[in-house]
Amino acid sequence: AKRRGRGRAISYQPGMIEAIAERGHLDNALRGALAQGQFHLLYQPILSLADDSIVAFEALIRWTHPTRGLVSPAEFIPLAEENGCIVPIGQWVLDQACREAAGWPANQHVAVNVSAVQLRSPHIMAHVTGALARSGLPPHRLEIELTETALVEDGRQVAHTLAALRALGIRIAMDDFGTGYSSLAHLRDLPLDRIKIDRSFVASALEDKHSLAVIRAVAQMGRDMNVLTLAEGVENSDQLDLLREIGCDAVQGYFIGRPAPPPRGGAEFSWVHAA
Ligand code: C2E
Ligand code: CA
Ligand code: CA
Ligand code: CA
Repeated sequence: AKRRGRGRAISYQPGMIEAIAERGHLDNALRGALAQGQFHLLYQPILSLADDSIVAFEALIRWTHPTRGLVSPAEFIPLAEENGCIVPIGQWVLDQACREAAGWPANQHVAVNVSAVQLRSPHIMAHVTGALARSGLPPHRLEIELTETALVEDGRQVAHTLAALRALGIRIAMDDFGTGYSSLAHLRDLPLDRIKIDRSFVASALEDKHSLAVIRAVAQMGRDMNVLTLAEGVENSDQLDLLREIGCDAVQGYFIGRPAPPPRGGAEFSWVHAA
C-alpha cells in the first residue's frame, strides 16, 4: 500500500484498513515461510488423448500458514511477486518438483509454473540448470508454464531466455491461453511446445458457441503450427467428449484428477474413466 498514494487521494472504504493490515501480515509471514518449511507441492495429472495415458503432472504450490492453515496461491503468489519472495520460492518449487519427478516413470514429465518476475530474474538459468543437476531429472522431462503476461514485457530478454531453456531440451507451455492480450502475436513469435487453453473456455464450451469456436480454432492452430494443445479445467464427461471430438492433444481438470500429494511412481495413478 505504501507506494500507492502518490498524487492520488485514497478514500478508505470500510474493510480496507483491515485488508491492508492483512496484506502486511501475510507479507511478513511469507518472508519466513520458506525457511520454516511451510510450502509443499501437489500434483495434478495431465491426460494425453492420443492414448488415454497420464503423460505429466503439473506441480501446484501450497502454503500452510501456522495459524490460518492453507492460503491459496491465487492470494500469495501475487504478493510474493510484489515483495520479491517469488524468486527464492520459485527456486524451491523447481528444486522440489524436479527431485520428486526424478522418481516417476521415465515417460512422465513434470510441469512447473514460473512467474514473470522469476523468468526475468538474472538467476533463472542457474536455478533451472541447478534443479536439473541436483535431481538428475533429464531436461526433456521438465516443462515450464508461463502466462501470457509473463511473455509480454521485455519481449527480447524473454525470447532469449526461452531459447536458452529450449536449447537444453526443456519444454515451454503458454498457460491460461486466451485470457491475456496479444495472444496471436505470441503464438507466432515465441518458441512454444504447448498451449494450455484457459479453463474459462472449457467451462462454457457446452453452452456458448463462441467459447466452443475459440477452442476449435486454437486446436486447429496448434495442429497447423505443430504446437500441442491442452484444455484446462475439465470437470465432467461431456466436456471431455467434446474436447476429444475437437481434437485437443491433452486435458487436465478435476474430472481427470484433482491436485494431490506426489505420486510415488506415477504408474500408480490409474485413469479410471478411460474409454
Ligand atoms: P494455474 O497454473 O492455471 O493452475 C491451475 C489451477 O486450476 C490450480 O489452482 C488447479 O487446482 C485449478 N484447477 C485444476 N483443475 C480444475 C478444474 O477442473 N476446475 C477448477 N475450477 N479448477 C481447476 P491452484 O492450485 O489454486 O493454483 C492457482 C494458480 O496459482 C495457478 O493457476 C498458478 O497461476 C499459480 N500457481 C500455483 N502453483 C504455483 C507455483 O508453484 N509457482 C507459481 N509461480 N505460480 C503457481
Ligand atoms: Ca499452470
Ligand atoms: Ca492455467
Ligand atoms: Ca490460472
